[in-house]
Amino acid sequence: MPLVTLKKVLTKANKRNYAVGAFNINNLEMLQAIMEAAEAERSPVIISTSEGAINYAGMMELGSLVHIAAKRSKRPVVFHLDHGKNYNLVVEAIKSGLYTSVMYDGSSLPFEQNIKKTKKLVAMAHKRGISLEAELGSIAGIEDFVSVEEKDAHLTNPDQAKDFIRRTGCDALAIAVGTSHGAYKFSGASKLDQKRLTQIKLLTKMPLVLHGASGVPSNIKNLCIKYGCKIEKAKGVSDASIKKAISNGINKINIDTDLRIAFDAGIRKFLKDNPEVIDPRKILTPAKELITKVVRHKMKMFGSSNKG
Ligand SMILES: [Zn+2]
Repeated sequence: MPLVTLKKVLTKANKRNYAVGAFNINNLEMLQAIMEAAEAERSPVIISTSEGAINYAGMMELGSLVHIAAKRSKRPVVFHLDHGKNYNLVVEAIKSGLYTSVMYDGSSLPFEQNIKKTKKLVAMAHKRGISLEAELGSIAGIEDFVSVEEKDAHLTNPDQAKDFIRRTGCDALAIAVGTSHGAYKFSGASKLDQKRLTQIKLLTKMPLVLHGASGVPSNIKNLCIKYGCKIEKAKGVSDASIKKAISNGINKINIDTDLRIAFDAGIRKFLKDNPEVIDPRKILTPAKELITKVVRHKMKMFGSSNKG
Protein backbone atom coordinates (compact mmCIF):
# COMPACT_ATOMS: atom_id res chain seq x y z
CA MET A 1 0.00 0.00 0.00
CA PRO A 2 1.14 3.61 -0.32
CA LEU A 3 3.11 5.12 2.55
CA VAL A 4 1.11 6.31 5.55
CA THR A 5 1.76 9.18 7.96
CA LEU A 6 3.36 8.93 11.37
CA LYS A 7 0.25 10.48 12.88
CA LYS A 8 -1.94 7.69 11.55
CA VAL A 9 0.28 4.91 12.86
CA LEU A 10 0.93 6.52 16.25
CA THR A 11 -2.67 7.55 16.95
CA LYS A 12 -3.61 3.89 16.80
CA ALA A 13 -0.61 2.87 18.92
CA ASN A 14 -1.48 5.54 21.50
CA LYS A 15 -5.06 4.32 21.79
CA ARG A 16 -4.05 0.70 22.16
CA ASN A 17 -0.94 1.18 24.29
CA TYR A 18 1.88 -0.22 22.19
CA ALA A 19 4.91 1.24 20.41
CA VAL A 20 6.03 1.17 16.79
CA GLY A 21 9.72 0.80 16.01
CA ALA A 22 11.52 3.39 13.90
CA PHE A 23 14.46 1.64 12.27
CA ASN A 24 17.32 3.49 10.60
CA ILE A 25 18.50 2.44 7.16
CA ASN A 26 21.64 3.27 5.21
CA ASN A 27 21.26 0.93 2.29
CA LEU A 28 19.05 -1.52 0.40
CA GLU A 29 20.01 -4.51 2.52
CA MET A 30 18.95 -2.92 5.81
CA LEU A 31 15.61 -1.93 4.31
CA GLN A 32 15.02 -5.44 2.98
CA ALA A 33 15.85 -6.95 6.36
CA ILE A 34 13.46 -4.62 8.22
CA MET A 35 10.63 -5.13 5.72
CA GLU A 36 11.01 -8.87 6.00
CA ALA A 37 10.57 -8.58 9.75
CA ALA A 38 7.49 -6.35 9.33
CA GLU A 39 5.89 -8.91 7.00
CA ALA A 40 6.69 -11.82 9.28
CA GLU A 41 5.35 -10.00 12.34
CA ARG A 42 2.45 -8.36 10.48
CA SER A 43 3.61 -5.12 12.08
CA PRO A 44 3.44 -1.46 11.11
CA VAL A 45 6.93 -0.04 10.60
CA ILE A 46 8.68 3.33 10.48
CA ILE A 47 11.71 3.53 8.19
CA SER A 48 14.06 6.34 9.22
CA THR A 49 16.87 8.09 7.43
CA SER A 50 19.26 10.34 9.32
CA GLU A 51 21.21 13.21 7.83
CA GLY A 52 24.23 10.89 7.79
CA ALA A 53 22.31 8.25 5.82
CA ILE A 54 21.22 10.89 3.32
CA ASN A 55 24.81 12.08 2.91
CA TYR A 56 25.92 8.48 2.42
CA ALA A 57 23.26 7.15 0.05
CA GLY A 58 21.12 10.10 -1.11
CA MET A 59 17.62 11.23 -0.13
CA MET A 60 16.13 10.38 -3.52
CA GLU A 61 17.87 7.00 -3.69
CA LEU A 62 16.75 5.87 -0.22
CA GLY A 63 13.30 7.40 -0.65
CA SER A 64 12.71 5.58 -3.92
CA LEU A 65 13.67 2.25 -2.35
CA VAL A 66 11.28 2.83 0.56
CA HIS A 67 8.41 3.81 -1.75
CA ILE A 68 8.78 0.62 -3.77
CA ALA A 69 9.06 -1.50 -0.62
CA ALA A 70 5.92 0.08 0.86
CA LYS A 71 3.96 -0.36 -2.35
CA ARG A 72 4.72 -4.07 -2.37
CA SER A 73 3.88 -4.48 1.30
CA LYS A 74 0.53 -4.99 2.96
CA ARG A 75 1.82 -3.36 6.18
CA PRO A 76 1.54 0.32 7.05
CA VAL A 77 4.94 1.88 6.29
CA VAL A 78 6.00 5.41 7.33
CA PHE A 79 9.02 7.08 5.72
CA HIS A 80 10.55 9.39 8.31
CA LEU A 81 13.39 11.93 8.45
CA ASP A 82 15.24 11.28 11.70
CA HIS A 83 16.78 14.13 13.72
CA GLY A 84 16.58 17.06 11.38
CA LYS A 85 18.78 19.41 13.37
CA ASN A 86 19.39 21.32 10.18
CA TYR A 87 16.28 23.44 9.47
CA ASN A 88 16.95 23.57 5.73
CA LEU A 89 17.27 19.81 5.47
CA VAL A 90 13.83 19.43 7.08
CA VAL A 91 12.40 21.89 4.57
CA GLU A 92 14.07 19.97 1.75
CA ALA A 93 12.64 16.68 3.05
CA ILE A 94 9.13 18.14 3.32
CA LYS A 95 9.31 19.55 -0.20
CA SER A 96 10.84 16.38 -1.68
CA GLY A 97 7.48 14.59 -1.69
CA LEU A 98 9.27 11.46 -0.46
CA TYR A 99 8.60 11.57 3.29
CA THR A 100 5.32 11.08 5.14
CA SER A 101 6.92 12.25 8.38
CA VAL A 102 9.82 14.44 9.44
CA MET A 103 11.49 15.15 12.73
CA TYR A 104 12.68 18.62 13.56
CA ASP A 105 15.08 18.60 16.48
CA GLY A 106 15.26 22.09 17.94
CA SER A 107 16.07 20.78 21.41
CA SER A 108 19.41 22.57 21.58
CA LEU A 109 17.71 25.95 21.07
CA PRO A 110 16.17 28.09 23.83
CA PHE A 111 12.53 27.04 24.54
CA GLU A 112 10.84 29.95 22.72
CA GLN A 113 13.06 29.60 19.67
CA ASN A 114 12.41 25.85 19.50
CA ILE A 115 8.65 26.60 19.55
CA LYS A 116 8.95 29.24 16.85
CA LYS A 117 10.90 27.09 14.40
CA THR A 118 8.93 23.92 15.13
CA LYS A 119 5.64 25.74 14.60
CA LYS A 120 6.78 27.04 11.22
CA LEU A 121 7.77 23.56 10.06
CA VAL A 122 4.56 22.01 11.41
CA ALA A 123 2.56 24.40 9.22
CA MET A 124 4.70 23.57 6.20
CA ALA A 125 4.45 19.80 6.81
CA HIS A 126 0.72 19.75 7.54
CA LYS A 127 -0.01 21.70 4.36
CA ARG A 128 1.44 18.73 2.49
CA GLY A 129 -0.17 16.07 4.64
CA ILE A 130 3.09 15.16 6.40
CA SER A 131 3.48 14.54 10.14
CA LEU A 132 6.05 16.29 12.30
CA GLU A 133 7.88 14.97 15.33
CA ALA A 134 9.52 17.57 17.59
CA GLU A 135 11.96 17.28 20.48
CA LEU A 136 12.12 18.89 23.90
CA GLY A 137 14.91 18.27 26.40
CA SER A 138 18.39 16.96 25.64
CA ILE A 139 18.71 13.24 25.05
CA ALA A 140 21.58 12.20 27.30
CA GLY A 141 22.01 9.47 29.89
CA ILE A 142 20.98 10.07 33.50
CA GLU A 143 24.56 9.35 34.51
CA ASP A 144 25.68 12.41 32.57
CA PHE A 145 24.13 14.62 35.25
CA VAL A 146 25.92 15.11 38.53
CA SER A 147 23.17 17.00 40.39
CA VAL A 148 19.36 16.95 40.59
CA GLU A 149 19.29 20.53 39.26
CA GLU A 150 21.32 19.51 36.27
CA LYS A 151 19.06 16.56 35.60
CA ASP A 152 16.00 18.83 35.76
CA ALA A 153 17.58 21.28 33.37
CA HIS A 154 18.24 18.63 30.72
CA LEU A 155 15.39 16.16 30.97
CA THR A 156 11.99 17.12 29.58
CA ASN A 157 9.86 19.24 31.89
CA PRO A 158 6.24 17.94 31.88
CA ASP A 159 4.59 21.39 32.09
CA GLN A 160 6.81 22.72 29.32
CA ALA A 161 5.96 19.67 27.20
CA LYS A 162 2.25 20.44 27.50
CA ASP A 163 2.82 24.08 26.58
CA PHE A 164 5.13 23.12 23.70
CA ILE A 165 2.64 20.73 22.12
CA ARG A 166 -0.25 23.15 22.46
CA ARG A 167 1.72 25.98 20.87
CA THR A 168 3.44 24.07 18.06
CA GLY A 169 0.75 21.58 16.99
CA CYS A 170 3.36 18.83 16.51
CA ASP A 171 2.13 15.26 16.00
CA ALA A 172 4.60 13.45 18.26
CA LEU A 173 7.14 14.55 20.83
CA ALA A 174 10.58 13.07 21.51
CA ILE A 175 11.30 13.41 25.19
CA ALA A 176 14.45 13.15 27.30
CA VAL A 177 14.03 10.74 30.21
CA GLY A 178 17.55 9.39 30.50
CA THR A 179 18.29 7.52 27.27
CA SER A 180 21.24 8.49 25.10
CA HIS A 181 22.36 7.88 21.53
CA GLY A 182 25.03 5.34 20.60
CA ALA A 183 26.22 2.04 22.00
CA TYR A 184 27.51 3.30 25.38
CA LYS A 185 24.49 4.37 27.37
CA PHE A 186 25.14 3.21 30.93
CA SER A 187 28.02 2.01 33.04
CA GLY A 188 25.73 0.28 35.55
CA ALA A 189 22.10 -0.84 35.23
CA SER A 190 19.96 1.05 32.72
CA LYS A 191 17.96 3.81 34.40
CA LEU A 192 15.08 5.77 32.93
CA ASP A 193 13.05 8.46 34.65
CA GLN A 194 9.73 6.59 34.40
CA LYS A 195 8.02 8.97 36.82
CA ARG A 196 8.79 11.93 34.59
CA LEU A 197 7.54 9.98 31.56
CA THR A 198 4.26 9.15 33.34
CA GLN A 199 3.76 12.83 34.21
CA ILE A 200 4.41 13.96 30.64
CA LYS A 201 1.91 11.43 29.30
CA LEU A 202 -0.70 12.39 31.84
CA LEU A 203 -0.43 16.07 30.92
CA THR A 204 -0.10 15.74 27.14
CA LYS A 205 -1.82 12.46 26.14
CA MET A 206 0.36 12.69 23.01
CA PRO A 207 2.30 9.99 21.15
CA LEU A 208 5.69 10.14 22.87
CA VAL A 209 8.98 9.07 21.32
CA LEU A 210 12.00 7.39 22.89
CA HIS A 211 15.33 8.05 21.19
CA GLY A 212 18.58 6.34 22.07
CA ALA A 213 16.67 3.21 22.99
CA SER A 214 18.77 0.39 21.54
CA GLY A 215 19.29 -2.57 23.83
CA VAL A 216 22.74 -3.76 22.70
CA PRO A 217 21.55 -7.39 23.08
CA SER A 218 24.30 -9.50 24.61
CA ASN A 219 24.05 -12.39 22.11
CA ILE A 220 24.71 -10.04 19.17
CA LYS A 221 27.30 -8.01 21.08
CA ASN A 222 29.19 -11.17 22.03
CA LEU A 223 29.13 -12.38 18.44
CA CYS A 224 30.69 -9.07 17.37
CA ILE A 225 33.36 -9.33 20.05
CA LYS A 226 34.10 -12.96 19.23
CA TYR A 227 34.91 -11.97 15.66
CA GLY A 228 37.09 -9.00 16.54
CA CYS A 229 34.87 -5.98 17.14
CA LYS A 230 35.98 -3.92 20.14
CA ILE A 231 32.74 -2.98 21.90
CA GLU A 232 33.20 -4.69 25.26
CA LYS A 233 31.86 -1.74 27.24
CA ALA A 234 28.77 -1.14 25.08
CA LYS A 235 25.54 -1.14 27.08
CA GLY A 236 21.97 -0.34 26.09
CA VAL A 237 18.51 0.00 27.61
CA SER A 238 17.14 -3.26 29.02
CA ASP A 239 14.00 -4.85 27.53
CA ALA A 240 12.35 -4.52 30.95
CA SER A 241 12.92 -0.73 30.97
CA ILE A 242 11.57 -0.45 27.43
CA LYS A 243 8.44 -2.45 28.28
CA LYS A 244 7.84 -0.27 31.32
CA ALA A 245 8.29 2.88 29.22
CA ILE A 246 5.70 1.60 26.73
CA SER A 247 3.22 0.91 29.51
CA ASN A 248 3.88 4.47 30.71
CA GLY A 249 3.08 6.00 27.33
CA ILE A 250 5.91 5.66 24.78
CA ASN A 251 4.53 4.98 21.27
CA LYS A 252 7.58 5.26 19.01
CA ILE A 253 11.01 3.80 19.69
CA ASN A 254 14.06 4.59 17.60
CA ILE A 255 16.50 1.78 16.88
CA ASP A 256 19.77 2.35 15.07
CA THR A 257 22.71 0.99 17.12
CA ASP A 258 21.24 -2.52 17.42
CA LEU A 259 20.95 -2.78 13.64
CA ARG A 260 24.55 -1.66 13.23
CA ILE A 261 25.75 -4.27 15.70
CA ALA A 262 23.77 -7.00 13.93
CA PHE A 263 25.12 -5.92 10.53
CA ASP A 264 28.65 -5.90 11.88
CA ALA A 265 28.35 -9.30 13.56
CA GLY A 266 26.90 -10.93 10.45
CA ILE A 267 29.65 -9.67 8.16
CA ARG A 268 32.54 -10.38 10.55
CA LYS A 269 31.43 -13.94 11.21
CA PHE A 270 30.83 -14.74 7.57
CA LEU A 271 34.18 -13.38 6.40
CA LYS A 272 36.08 -15.22 9.11
CA ASP A 273 34.29 -18.50 8.38
CA ASN A 274 34.43 -18.11 4.58
CA PRO A 275 37.72 -16.41 3.65
CA GLU A 276 37.48 -17.67 0.05
CA VAL A 277 34.16 -15.89 -0.71
CA ILE A 278 34.24 -12.52 -2.49
CA ASP A 279 30.59 -12.29 -3.54
CA PRO A 280 28.95 -9.27 -1.81
CA ARG A 281 25.53 -10.92 -2.00
CA LYS A 282 26.83 -13.86 -0.01
CA ILE A 283 28.77 -11.65 2.40
CA LEU A 284 25.75 -9.48 3.22
CA THR A 285 23.11 -12.20 3.53
CA PRO A 286 23.94 -13.27 7.12
CA ALA A 287 24.02 -9.59 8.12
CA LYS A 288 20.52 -9.13 6.74
CA GLU A 289 19.29 -12.25 8.51
CA LEU A 290 20.63 -11.02 11.85
CA ILE A 291 18.96 -7.62 11.39
CA THR A 292 15.63 -9.32 10.63
CA LYS A 293 16.01 -11.33 13.82
CA VAL A 294 16.73 -8.23 15.90
CA VAL A 295 13.82 -6.29 14.37
CA ARG A 296 11.36 -9.15 14.90
CA HIS A 297 12.35 -9.30 18.56
CA LYS A 298 11.74 -5.54 18.90
CA MET A 299 8.34 -5.72 17.20
CA LYS A 300 7.23 -8.48 19.56
CA MET A 301 8.54 -6.60 22.58
CA PHE A 302 7.01 -3.27 21.49
CA GLY A 303 3.62 -4.94 21.04
CA SER A 304 3.33 -3.92 17.37
CA SER A 305 3.22 -7.53 16.04
CA ASN A 306 -0.14 -8.33 14.44
CA LYS A 307 -1.14 -4.65 14.52
CA GLY A 308 -0.41 -4.05 10.82
ZN1 LIG B 1 17.57 10.43 18.25
